[in-house]
Amino acid sequence: MKFIEDLTISLLREKPFYAYLLTQMQKIPQKDVPIAAVSLKDGIPQFYYNVSGFEKNCANKKEMLGVIEHELIHLIAGHTVRRGNRQPGIWNLACDFVANQLVSYPLPKIALKVENHDLPLGLAVEEYYELLKKKENRGKGGRSEGKASQEIQNDLGTTNGEMRQTSQTSEGGEQEENEDLNEKYKYLHTTWDDSDELGSELAEALVKEMVKDAYAKSRGEIPQSISHFVKNLVDSRLNWKKIMRMFIARSRAHNRKPTWKKVNRRFPEENPGYKKDYYSNLLVAIDTSGSISSRELSQFAAEIERIQQSKSKITVVECDAAIQKVYELKKKADLDLHFHGRGGTNFNPVFDYVRKSKIKPDAIIYLTDGFGPAPQKPFPIPTLWVITEKGRKPVEWGKEVKLQV
Ligand SMILES: [Zn+2]
Repeated sequence: MKFIEDLTISLLREKPFYAYLLTQMQKIPQKDVPIAAVSLKDGIPQFYYNVSGFEKNCANKKEMLGVIEHELIHLIAGHTVRRGNRQPGIWNLACDFVANQLVSYPLPKIALKVENHDLPLGLAVEEYYELLKKKENRGKGGRSEGKASQEIQNDLGTTNGEMRQTSQTSEGGEQEENEDLNEKYKYLHTTWDDSDELGSELAEALVKEMVKDAYAKSRGEIPQSISHFVKNLVDSRLNWKKIMRMFIARSRAHNRKPTWKKVNRRFPEENPGYKKDYYSNLLVAIDTSGSISSRELSQFAAEIERIQQSKSKITVVECDAAIQKVYELKKKADLDLHFHGRGGTNFNPVFDYVRKSKIKPDAIIYLTDGFGPAPQKPFPIPTLWVITEKGRKPVEWGKEVKLQV
Protein backbone atom coordinates (compact mmCIF):
# COMPACT_ATOMS: atom_id res chain seq x y z
CA MET A 1 0.00 0.00 0.00
CA LYS A 2 2.86 2.36 0.85
CA PHE A 3 4.04 2.16 -2.76
CA ILE A 4 0.77 3.36 -4.23
CA GLU A 5 0.29 5.92 -1.47
CA ASP A 6 3.61 7.52 -2.28
CA LEU A 7 2.66 7.80 -5.91
CA THR A 8 -0.74 9.23 -4.99
CA ILE A 9 0.94 11.91 -2.88
CA SER A 10 3.14 12.88 -5.82
CA LEU A 11 0.07 13.11 -8.01
CA LEU A 12 -1.68 15.19 -5.41
CA ARG A 13 1.14 17.72 -5.63
CA GLU A 14 1.57 17.64 -9.38
CA LYS A 15 -1.75 16.66 -10.95
CA PRO A 16 -4.34 16.58 -8.18
CA PHE A 17 -7.20 15.57 -10.46
CA TYR A 18 -5.64 12.14 -10.95
CA ALA A 19 -4.94 11.80 -7.25
CA TYR A 20 -8.59 12.47 -6.43
CA LEU A 21 -9.65 9.87 -8.96
CA LEU A 22 -7.28 7.35 -7.48
CA THR A 23 -8.41 7.95 -3.91
CA GLN A 24 -11.92 6.91 -4.92
CA MET A 25 -10.68 3.56 -6.15
CA GLN A 26 -9.97 0.40 -4.26
CA LYS A 27 -6.22 -0.19 -4.56
CA ILE A 28 -5.45 -3.87 -4.89
CA PRO A 29 -1.96 -5.39 -5.13
CA GLN A 30 -2.22 -8.07 -7.79
CA LYS A 31 0.60 -10.28 -8.99
CA ASP A 32 -1.31 -11.45 -12.07
CA VAL A 33 -1.30 -7.92 -13.37
CA PRO A 34 2.17 -7.25 -14.75
CA ILE A 35 2.04 -3.49 -14.03
CA ALA A 36 -1.39 -1.98 -13.50
CA ALA A 37 -5.01 -2.25 -14.57
CA VAL A 38 -8.39 -0.66 -13.88
CA SER A 39 -11.70 -2.40 -13.38
CA LEU A 40 -15.28 -1.63 -12.38
CA LYS A 41 -15.94 -5.06 -10.96
CA ASP A 42 -19.40 -5.24 -9.36
CA GLY A 43 -19.69 -1.51 -9.63
CA ILE A 44 -16.61 -0.83 -7.51
CA PRO A 45 -13.82 1.15 -9.18
CA GLN A 46 -10.61 -0.78 -8.67
CA PHE A 47 -6.97 -0.13 -9.38
CA TYR A 48 -4.77 -3.21 -9.56
CA TYR A 49 -1.02 -2.81 -9.32
CA ASN A 50 2.07 -4.93 -9.18
CA VAL A 51 4.97 -3.25 -7.43
CA SER A 52 7.70 -5.39 -8.99
CA GLY A 53 6.13 -4.84 -12.41
CA PHE A 54 6.35 -1.09 -11.89
CA GLU A 55 9.94 -1.37 -10.74
CA LYS A 56 10.96 -3.63 -13.58
CA ASN A 57 9.36 -1.63 -16.38
CA CYS A 58 9.66 1.98 -15.27
CA ALA A 59 12.97 3.82 -15.34
CA ASN A 60 11.90 6.37 -12.73
CA LYS A 61 9.01 7.72 -10.69
CA LYS A 62 7.71 9.96 -13.49
CA GLU A 63 7.23 6.91 -15.68
CA MET A 64 5.35 5.22 -12.87
CA LEU A 65 3.03 8.21 -12.70
CA GLY A 66 2.73 7.93 -16.47
CA VAL A 67 1.46 4.36 -16.10
CA ILE A 68 -1.12 5.43 -13.54
CA GLU A 69 -2.21 8.29 -15.78
CA HIS A 70 -2.50 5.85 -18.69
CA GLU A 71 -4.84 3.64 -16.68
CA LEU A 72 -6.99 6.52 -15.45
CA ILE A 73 -7.30 7.91 -18.96
CA HIS A 74 -8.74 4.58 -20.10
CA LEU A 75 -11.51 5.11 -17.55
CA ILE A 76 -12.11 8.80 -18.21
CA ALA A 77 -12.14 8.41 -21.98
CA GLY A 78 -14.65 5.56 -21.79
CA HIS A 79 -12.28 2.97 -23.28
CA THR A 80 -13.38 0.33 -20.83
CA VAL A 81 -17.02 0.58 -21.83
CA ARG A 82 -17.19 1.39 -25.54
CA ARG A 83 -15.78 -1.79 -27.05
CA GLY A 84 -19.10 -3.44 -27.84
CA ASN A 85 -18.69 -6.32 -30.26
CA ARG A 86 -15.40 -5.18 -31.66
CA GLN A 87 -12.40 -7.50 -31.69
CA PRO A 88 -10.86 -7.10 -28.24
CA GLY A 89 -7.19 -7.25 -29.23
CA ILE A 90 -7.47 -4.57 -31.87
CA TRP A 91 -9.63 -2.42 -29.60
CA ASN A 92 -7.01 -2.72 -26.87
CA LEU A 93 -4.26 -1.58 -29.16
CA ALA A 94 -6.34 1.35 -30.44
CA CYS A 95 -7.10 2.41 -26.86
CA ASP A 96 -3.44 2.37 -25.93
CA PHE A 97 -2.59 4.50 -28.96
CA VAL A 98 -5.05 7.12 -27.77
CA ALA A 99 -4.25 6.91 -24.06
CA ASN A 100 -0.51 7.20 -24.63
CA GLN A 101 -0.96 10.33 -26.72
CA LEU A 102 -2.89 11.93 -23.86
CA VAL A 103 -0.53 10.98 -21.04
CA SER A 104 1.34 14.04 -19.84
CA TYR A 105 4.03 12.19 -17.86
CA PRO A 106 6.83 10.31 -19.59
CA LEU A 107 5.95 6.71 -20.38
CA PRO A 108 8.04 3.59 -19.96
CA LYS A 109 9.80 2.27 -23.05
CA ILE A 110 7.38 -0.59 -23.44
CA ALA A 111 4.41 1.70 -24.05
CA LEU A 112 2.59 1.10 -27.33
CA LYS A 113 3.06 4.18 -29.46
CA VAL A 114 1.11 5.04 -32.54
CA GLU A 115 4.26 6.52 -34.10
CA ASN A 116 5.76 3.06 -34.29
CA HIS A 117 2.83 1.74 -36.24
CA ASP A 118 2.83 4.12 -39.12
CA LEU A 119 -0.53 5.68 -38.28
CA PRO A 120 -1.53 9.35 -37.94
CA LEU A 121 -1.70 11.11 -34.59
CA GLY A 122 -4.79 12.55 -32.96
CA LEU A 123 -7.48 10.10 -34.04
CA ALA A 124 -10.27 8.63 -31.94
CA VAL A 125 -10.14 5.05 -30.70
CA GLU A 126 -12.81 4.02 -33.20
CA GLU A 127 -10.78 5.45 -36.06
CA TYR A 128 -7.61 3.67 -35.04
CA TYR A 129 -9.63 0.52 -34.69
CA GLU A 130 -10.82 0.71 -38.29
CA LEU A 131 -7.35 1.51 -39.59
CA LEU A 132 -5.78 -1.34 -37.65
CA LYS A 133 -8.39 -3.74 -38.91
CA LYS A 134 -7.69 -2.77 -42.48
CA LYS A 135 -4.00 -3.07 -41.87
CA GLU A 136 -4.46 -6.50 -40.41
CA ASN A 137 -6.55 -7.71 -43.31
CA ARG A 138 -3.91 -6.49 -45.70
CA GLY A 139 -1.28 -8.27 -43.64
CA LYS A 140 -3.15 -11.51 -43.81
CA GLY A 141 -3.40 -11.25 -47.58
CA GLY A 142 0.28 -11.38 -48.31
CA ARG A 143 3.67 -10.91 -46.77
CA SER A 144 4.60 -7.27 -46.70
CA GLU A 145 7.57 -5.36 -45.42
CA GLY A 146 7.42 -4.90 -41.71
CA LYS A 147 9.62 -3.22 -39.18
CA ALA A 148 12.53 -4.68 -37.37
CA SER A 149 12.05 -6.84 -34.34
CA GLN A 150 13.26 -4.23 -31.87
CA GLU A 151 10.03 -2.31 -32.09
CA ILE A 152 7.97 -5.43 -31.72
CA GLN A 153 9.85 -6.38 -28.61
CA ASN A 154 9.02 -3.02 -27.11
CA ASP A 155 5.38 -3.25 -28.04
CA LEU A 156 5.11 -6.72 -26.72
CA GLY A 157 6.59 -5.45 -23.55
CA THR A 158 3.31 -3.76 -22.95
CA THR A 159 1.41 -6.89 -23.69
CA ASN A 160 3.48 -8.44 -20.98
CA GLY A 161 3.48 -5.29 -19.02
CA GLU A 162 -0.13 -4.40 -18.77
CA MET A 163 -1.94 -7.61 -18.29
CA ARG A 164 -0.54 -11.03 -18.75
CA GLN A 165 2.57 -12.88 -19.76
CA THR A 166 2.21 -13.96 -23.35
CA SER A 167 5.53 -15.61 -23.86
CA GLN A 168 4.75 -17.43 -27.09
CA THR A 169 4.73 -14.27 -29.11
CA SER A 170 7.23 -12.18 -27.27
CA GLU A 171 10.24 -14.04 -28.62
CA GLY A 172 9.28 -13.79 -32.23
CA GLY A 173 10.92 -11.40 -34.63
CA GLU A 174 7.91 -11.75 -36.84
CA GLN A 175 6.88 -8.92 -39.05
CA GLU A 176 4.09 -6.97 -37.50
CA GLU A 177 2.03 -6.65 -40.67
CA ASN A 178 1.65 -10.38 -40.79
CA GLU A 179 0.61 -10.77 -37.23
CA ASP A 180 -2.81 -11.29 -35.90
CA LEU A 181 -3.15 -8.07 -33.95
CA ASN A 182 -6.33 -9.22 -32.31
CA GLU A 183 -4.65 -12.34 -31.02
CA LYS A 184 -1.55 -10.47 -30.00
CA TYR A 185 -3.23 -7.82 -27.85
CA LYS A 186 -6.18 -9.85 -26.67
CA TYR A 187 -5.04 -9.90 -23.05
CA LEU A 188 -3.97 -6.31 -22.76
CA HIS A 189 -7.01 -5.11 -20.81
CA THR A 190 -8.84 -8.19 -19.58
CA THR A 191 -10.12 -6.44 -16.45
CA TRP A 192 -12.36 -4.35 -18.69
CA ASP A 193 -14.64 -7.33 -19.09
CA ASP A 194 -15.95 -6.46 -15.64
CA SER A 195 -17.43 -3.28 -17.08
CA ASP A 196 -19.25 -5.38 -19.67
CA GLU A 197 -20.79 -7.41 -16.94
CA LEU A 198 -21.92 -4.32 -15.12
CA GLY A 199 -23.50 -2.93 -18.26
CA SER A 200 -21.81 -0.12 -20.08
CA GLU A 201 -24.39 2.49 -19.14
CA LEU A 202 -24.10 1.84 -15.46
CA ALA A 203 -20.34 1.68 -15.75
CA GLU A 204 -20.42 5.05 -17.46
CA ALA A 205 -22.56 6.51 -14.71
CA LEU A 206 -20.05 5.25 -12.17
CA VAL A 207 -17.10 6.82 -13.95
CA LYS A 208 -19.04 10.03 -14.34
CA GLU A 209 -19.59 10.17 -10.62
CA MET A 210 -15.89 9.67 -9.89
CA VAL A 211 -14.82 12.27 -12.40
CA LYS A 212 -17.27 14.82 -11.04
CA ASP A 213 -15.97 14.32 -7.55
CA ALA A 214 -12.34 14.60 -8.61
CA TYR A 215 -13.14 17.63 -10.73
CA ALA A 216 -14.78 19.41 -7.82
CA LYS A 217 -11.96 18.56 -5.40
CA SER A 218 -9.25 19.68 -7.76
CA ARG A 219 -11.17 22.91 -8.30
CA GLY A 220 -11.45 22.36 -11.99
CA GLU A 221 -7.70 22.14 -12.47
CA ILE A 222 -7.36 19.37 -15.00
CA PRO A 223 -4.65 18.36 -17.44
CA GLN A 224 -5.28 20.03 -20.77
CA SER A 225 -5.03 16.82 -22.79
CA ILE A 226 -8.05 15.24 -21.12
CA SER A 227 -10.13 18.34 -20.49
CA HIS A 228 -12.71 17.66 -23.15
CA PHE A 229 -13.46 14.16 -21.83
CA VAL A 230 -13.80 15.55 -18.34
CA LYS A 231 -16.02 18.44 -19.39
CA ASN A 232 -18.30 16.05 -21.24
CA LEU A 233 -18.70 13.91 -18.16
CA VAL A 234 -19.08 16.79 -15.75
CA ASP A 235 -21.69 18.67 -17.74
CA SER A 236 -24.16 15.95 -18.50
CA ARG A 237 -26.80 14.54 -16.24
CA LEU A 238 -27.93 10.93 -16.21
CA ASN A 239 -28.25 9.78 -19.75
CA TRP A 240 -31.63 8.15 -19.50
CA LYS A 241 -31.87 7.36 -23.12
CA LYS A 242 -28.80 5.20 -22.80
CA ILE A 243 -29.57 3.82 -19.36
CA MET A 244 -33.02 2.82 -20.48
CA ARG A 245 -31.88 1.28 -23.70
CA MET A 246 -29.38 -0.79 -21.83
CA PHE A 247 -31.43 -1.60 -18.78
CA ILE A 248 -34.61 -2.45 -20.62
CA ALA A 249 -32.78 -4.50 -23.20
CA ARG A 250 -31.24 -6.52 -20.41
CA SER A 251 -34.57 -6.85 -18.64
CA ARG A 252 -36.13 -8.27 -21.76
CA ALA A 253 -33.33 -10.71 -22.19
CA HIS A 254 -34.05 -11.82 -18.64
CA ASN A 255 -37.75 -12.64 -18.96
CA ARG A 256 -37.68 -14.42 -22.25
CA LYS A 257 -41.40 -13.84 -22.77
CA PRO A 258 -41.31 -10.28 -24.00
CA THR A 259 -44.06 -8.38 -22.25
CA TRP A 260 -44.07 -5.67 -24.85
CA LYS A 261 -46.03 -7.98 -27.09
CA LYS A 262 -48.92 -7.81 -24.68
CA VAL A 263 -48.52 -4.08 -24.36
CA ASN A 264 -48.53 -3.90 -28.08
CA ARG A 265 -51.90 -5.57 -28.36
CA ARG A 266 -53.42 -3.54 -25.60
CA PHE A 267 -52.22 -0.22 -26.87
CA PRO A 268 -51.76 -0.71 -30.58
CA GLU A 269 -52.46 2.92 -31.37
CA GLU A 270 -49.69 4.17 -29.12
CA ASN A 271 -47.18 1.89 -30.57
CA PRO A 272 -47.69 1.50 -34.27
CA GLY A 273 -44.17 1.09 -35.59
CA TYR A 274 -42.63 -0.96 -32.87
CA LYS A 275 -39.67 -2.84 -34.12
CA LYS A 276 -36.56 -2.82 -32.04
CA ASP A 277 -37.16 0.51 -30.39
CA TYR A 278 -37.36 0.49 -26.64
CA TYR A 279 -41.01 0.96 -25.94
CA SER A 280 -41.73 -0.58 -22.60
CA ASN A 281 -43.93 -0.66 -19.61
CA LEU A 282 -42.26 0.95 -16.62
CA LEU A 283 -43.21 1.36 -13.03
CA VAL A 284 -41.55 4.41 -11.53
CA ALA A 285 -41.71 4.50 -7.76
CA ILE A 286 -40.91 7.71 -5.94
CA ASP A 287 -39.89 7.97 -2.34
CA THR A 288 -41.84 10.96 -1.03
CA SER A 289 -40.92 10.47 2.61
CA GLY A 290 -39.63 13.17 4.92
CA SER A 291 -35.98 12.21 4.43
CA ILE A 292 -36.13 13.44 0.85
CA SER A 293 -35.39 17.13 0.56
CA SER A 294 -37.51 19.31 -1.68
CA ARG A 295 -34.50 19.83 -3.90
CA GLU A 296 -34.13 16.08 -4.31
CA LEU A 297 -37.81 15.76 -5.04
CA SER A 298 -37.57 18.28 -7.84
CA GLN A 299 -34.53 16.38 -9.08
CA PHE A 300 -36.66 13.23 -9.17
CA ALA A 301 -39.28 15.10 -11.14
CA ALA A 302 -36.67 16.30 -13.62
CA GLU A 303 -35.32 12.80 -14.11
CA ILE A 304 -38.79 11.31 -14.55
CA GLU A 305 -39.54 13.89 -17.18
CA ARG A 306 -36.51 12.66 -19.01
CA ILE A 307 -37.44 9.01 -18.56
CA GLN A 308 -40.71 9.99 -20.20
CA GLN A 309 -38.83 10.94 -23.32
CA SER A 310 -38.00 7.28 -23.80
CA LYS A 311 -41.60 6.83 -24.98
CA SER A 312 -42.27 4.22 -22.34
CA LYS A 313 -45.60 3.68 -20.68
CA ILE A 314 -45.03 4.92 -17.16
CA THR A 315 -47.01 4.15 -14.04
CA VAL A 316 -46.01 6.36 -11.14
CA VAL A 317 -46.29 5.11 -7.58
CA GLU A 318 -45.69 7.64 -4.83
CA CYS A 319 -44.79 5.96 -1.60
CA ASP A 320 -43.39 6.90 1.80
CA ALA A 321 -44.20 4.38 4.52
CA ALA A 322 -47.27 3.42 2.49
CA ILE A 323 -48.50 3.98 -1.04
CA GLN A 324 -50.01 7.43 -1.42
CA LYS A 325 -50.83 7.74 -5.07
CA VAL A 326 -50.77 5.61 -8.22
CA TYR A 327 -51.32 7.07 -11.66
CA GLU A 328 -50.32 6.72 -15.24
CA LEU A 329 -48.04 9.44 -16.49
CA LYS A 330 -49.37 10.61 -19.81
CA LYS A 331 -48.14 14.15 -19.97
CA LYS A 332 -45.71 16.25 -18.04
CA ALA A 333 -48.41 18.01 -16.05
CA ASP A 334 -49.55 14.71 -14.54
CA LEU A 335 -46.47 14.73 -12.42
CA ASP A 336 -47.18 16.76 -9.35
CA LEU A 337 -44.86 15.59 -6.64
CA HIS A 338 -45.26 16.68 -3.09
CA PHE A 339 -44.65 15.25 0.31
CA HIS A 340 -47.19 12.99 1.89
CA GLY A 341 -45.25 11.27 4.58
CA ARG A 342 -43.95 12.38 7.92
CA GLY A 343 -40.58 10.76 7.85
CA GLY A 344 -41.23 7.04 7.52
CA THR A 345 -39.95 5.11 4.52
CA ASN A 346 -40.79 1.59 3.46
CA PHE A 347 -40.10 0.05 0.06
CA ASN A 348 -42.13 -3.10 0.61
CA PRO A 349 -45.56 -1.63 -0.25
CA VAL A 350 -44.47 -0.87 -3.82
CA PHE A 351 -43.27 -4.42 -4.43
CA ASP A 352 -46.37 -5.86 -2.77
CA TYR A 353 -48.45 -3.65 -5.01
CA VAL A 354 -46.68 -4.85 -8.16
CA ARG A 355 -47.12 -8.45 -7.07
CA LYS A 356 -50.86 -8.04 -6.66
CA SER A 357 -51.75 -5.61 -9.41
CA LYS A 358 -52.40 -6.25 -13.07
CA ILE A 359 -49.60 -3.96 -14.15
CA LYS A 360 -46.81 -6.22 -15.20
CA PRO A 361 -43.96 -3.79 -15.69
CA ASP A 362 -40.87 -4.69 -17.70
CA ALA A 363 -38.87 -2.92 -15.09
CA ILE A 364 -39.16 -0.98 -11.85
CA ILE A 365 -37.31 2.25 -11.33
CA TYR A 366 -37.22 3.42 -7.73
CA LEU A 367 -36.06 6.95 -6.95
CA THR A 368 -35.04 7.22 -3.31
CA ASP A 369 -32.28 7.84 -0.79
CA GLY A 370 -32.48 4.14 -0.01
CA PHE A 371 -33.07 4.40 3.72
CA GLY A 372 -35.86 2.01 4.63
CA PRO A 373 -36.82 -1.67 4.67
CA ALA A 374 -37.15 -3.51 1.37
CA PRO A 375 -37.74 -7.12 0.32
CA GLN A 376 -34.65 -9.14 1.14
CA LYS A 377 -35.06 -11.56 -1.75
CA PRO A 378 -34.42 -10.33 -5.28
CA PHE A 379 -37.64 -9.24 -6.91
CA PRO A 380 -38.50 -11.15 -10.09
CA ILE A 381 -38.82 -7.94 -12.12
CA PRO A 382 -35.59 -6.08 -12.98
CA THR A 383 -35.21 -3.16 -10.65
CA LEU A 384 -33.11 -0.04 -11.00
CA TRP A 385 -32.48 1.98 -7.87
CA VAL A 386 -31.90 5.63 -8.61
CA ILE A 387 -30.21 6.85 -5.46
CA THR A 388 -29.77 10.41 -4.25
CA GLU A 389 -26.29 11.80 -3.83
CA LYS A 390 -25.97 10.93 -0.16
CA GLY A 391 -28.13 7.84 -0.24
CA ARG A 392 -27.34 4.17 -0.62
CA LYS A 393 -28.91 1.17 -2.27
CA PRO A 394 -31.27 -0.42 0.31
CA VAL A 395 -30.67 -4.05 -0.68
CA GLU A 396 -28.07 -6.17 -2.42
CA TRP A 397 -30.17 -6.92 -5.46
CA GLY A 398 -31.08 -4.69 -8.36
CA LYS A 399 -28.98 -2.25 -10.33
CA GLU A 400 -28.03 1.18 -9.12
CA VAL A 401 -27.38 4.58 -10.60
CA LYS A 402 -26.51 7.63 -8.58
CA LEU A 403 -28.24 10.92 -9.08
CA GLN A 404 -25.81 13.69 -9.79
CA VAL A 405 -26.10 17.17 -8.48
ZN1 LIG B 1 -3.74 0.37 -21.68
